[in-house]
Amino acid sequence: MSRPIQAHIDLSALRNNLRVVRRASSARVMAVVKANAYGHGLLQAAQALHEADGFALLEVRDAVQLRDAGFRQPILLLEGFFSREELPLLAEYELTTVIHNHQQIEWLEAYPRKNGLSVWLKINSGMNRLGFSAQEFPAVMERLKSHRAVRDVTLMTHFALADEAPGVMTQLSLFEQLTANHRLPRSLANSAAILRHPVAHGDWVRPGIMLYGSSPFADVSAESLGLQPVMTLSSEIISVREIKAGDAVGYGATFFCAERAMRIGTVACGYADGYPRHAATGTPILVDGKRTRTLGRVSMDMLGVDLSALPDARVGSRVVLWGEGMPIDEVARAAGTISYELLCALTPRVPVVGA
Ligand SMILES: *Cc1c(COP(=O)(O)O)cnc(C)c1O
Repeated sequence: MSRPIQAHIDLSALRNNLRVVRRASSARVMAVVKANAYGHGLLQAAQALHEADGFALLEVRDAVQLRDAGFRQPILLLEGFFSREELPLLAEYELTTVIHNHQQIEWLEAYPRKNGLSVWLKINSGMNRLGFSAQEFPAVMERLKSHRAVRDVTLMTHFALADEAPGVMTQLSLFEQLTANHRLPRSLANSAAILRHPVAHGDWVRPGIMLYGSSPFADVSAESLGLQPVMTLSSEIISVREIKAGDAVGYGATFFCAERAMRIGTVACGYADGYPRHAATGTPILVDGKRTRTLGRVSMDMLGVDLSALPDARVGSRVVLWGEGMPIDEVARAAGTISYELLCALTPRVPVVGA
């Protein structure tokens, strides 16, 4: 028997969540599969999402892996290329690249092949992370349009506030104003904008987190959006004991101290598996399908749970850390973070099993 922790990937939930995107938008869907498909396994996620119109990620080697696996749709490199040496590979594998800085354009200039590349030109409309400013855009656009290596151009931007007030209007109107004179495809929307801002859908939407069944909004549950959890992180109780009033649990005796006698369990899951060490005592967790709470500090390989109200729980009881029946958004909130970080932080020692 191996250690009982695993991340189960529900591939039919992935397909369901893609249908939720399709219902929300008639734009083409660029499924975002960066960071190993948000921890879900790049190839199996892409296979479940094979009806997407394109895939977006960061590393050229991952893009090449998708091509080699037979995916024919556009594959977009979200940060573009990082050196001129990558350009022949981009052309050979027909990868689409974001262009967001002058350095990349200079590298393009030195690239001899004609008509090789599809380019997504990134405009900074207020996120202030990547992209050309409103002032730079017209000149950059001219330079790219006449560039021999460029086959076609899509215009893109990224929203900073699609998931909260004041929303996308300031960025959207700047983007529309800048791009109005160009008859080119556009792409703006992440999950939050897909669900909340239909005016910003453009020609290509770029869903990430919603495909994986988590809500992009702090105040709206995934379930109410029709999204199904894709990853279920589960393990088992590997030890059970009774403690008395005054006993502590785990490292740091002051972190949790029992006020009365209680029954507690130890779960084979810790921060070296990707469970957040910042999850405080009281973080919700399922044991044998029933909700209870974590106790004490999360260790590297284990964490404590309260079994006082679960007299039938024993060594071998199934524990769900997040996923089916235990929304990851609740766990993230208790740990002071967002679901994105928890999903991506899953470590390689946890088997990721798709079905
Ligand atoms: C990660 C990313 C997305 C997806 O964002 P979600 O909030 O996960 O939907 C879309 N566009 C860009 C440029 C990204 O980097």
